[in-house]
Amino acid sequence: MSDENKTIHDFDFNLICEYFSSLDQQGPGSPEVTIKALSFIDNLTADSRIADIGCGTGGQTMVLAHHTLGHITGIDLFPTFIDLFNLNAKKLNLQDRVSGIVGSMENLPFHNEELDLIWSEGAIYNIGFERGLKEWHKFLKTGGYIAVSEASWFTDKRPLEIDKFWQDAYPEIDTVSNKVAQMQAAGYLPMATFILPENCWTEHFYTPQVLSQQNFLEKYKGNKS
Ligand code: SAH
Repeated sequence: MSDENKTIHDFDFNLICEYFSSLDQQGPGSPEVTIKALSFIDNLTADSRIADIGCGTGGQTMVLAHHTLGHITGIDLFPTFIDLFNLNAKKLNLQDRVSGIVGSMENLPFHNEELDLIWSEGAIYNIGFERGLKEWHKFLKTGGYIAVSEASWFTDKRPLEIDKFWQDAYPEIDTVSNKVAQMQAAGYLPMATFILPENCWTEHFYTPQVLSQQNFLEKYKGNKS
């Protein structure tokens, strides 16, 4: 980057999309935490309707599919991610109950009270945690569940530099207890929270990027963006 103060919001989206397409997951997570989050949810049957919002190429969606029986719709803004999502579903022979569609989390194509479960890993921040929780609530049936991951502070105090970085990148970042209070205020009954173990960021997110970064920088040598 020519200007080190630039954030991801100023990047070229085609480049971002191509870069993240080469990865199995586009955010922090792991099969273990997807299964752990699912363990708190007990209303699912073969008739359940599940939405995975901001699904990316579907790493976590396929894990969900292997541990549930219902129909899952993955939604993402980027067609390239959805193409890969549907290829992944087909490879795993899940295409009859897992389908990806291009769409925005700001304008979801569901009916009121259609869904048994809304899933969203590393993605609700795009619309904002509070706004997403409020706007998506109507799509859930009574007794339905939502599971989201969200960048949150573990403590009330942190080094100024880190605080400043996050205030610039995502001013809605807050403590876990405040996030839970926002969830309650949006009409949900909070059931469980847990902190993603460090390997969700390292082993599963940043480490696989090392090779992708080498290839990407080689391919776009000299490209200023
Ligand atoms: N859930 C995936 C992807 C997380 S990255 C994972 O955990 O690996 C966040 C995703 O949100 C990206 O795939 C991005 O394309 C998608 N996204 C961003 N804004 C969106 C919007 N307005 N509507 C739908 N998806 C969006």
